[in-house]
Amino acid sequence: MGKIAEKRPADIKDGTFLGKDMYNKTGTCKYCGQMRAMTYVTDFVSQEQVDIDATRTCTCKEAIDHARLEESAEKAKNNIRLLNKQLRICFSEAIEKQCDGLIDLIAAGDVKSATIKLDEIKTIYIKKKGDSKINVSIRKNTKWDLDS
Ligand SMILES: [Zn+2]
Repeated sequence: MGKIAEKRPADIKDGTFLGKDMYNKTGTCKYCGQMRAMTYVTDFVSQEQVDIDATRTCTCKEAIDHARLEESAEKAKNNIRLLNKQLRICFSEAIEKQCDGLIDLIAAGDVKSATIKLDEIKTIYIKKKGDSKINVSIRKNTKWDLDS
């Protein structure tokens, strides 16, 4: 068996390809508890980040559902803006940001659904659909109401 060369920067000659520095870390999927070997080009990665990456790359149903849910959350944020524009609801950027926050809470599993009544006739609904989707809808009822 050959001697394993030490990879010290001083030993590296110009133009010598040694490959990237690889640091192996072990992360745990937060859903199924499976340990996963992760590789990084830097040693400065927190265990929390390694666990997040291990969860993100895990193939268990919960991890896959969660990854899809996060993807769906990003689309849902765009859909809120799209509906706002298309339906000419004209709610403010501040409300869009609140919706983003609620979508994040739903994606994280902290909130199941949210209903925002903008006024008497306009309502925004945000809800989780199935295990991995977030649905947004806006109701814009026309209400003709005469008081006398
Ligand atoms: Zn898992």
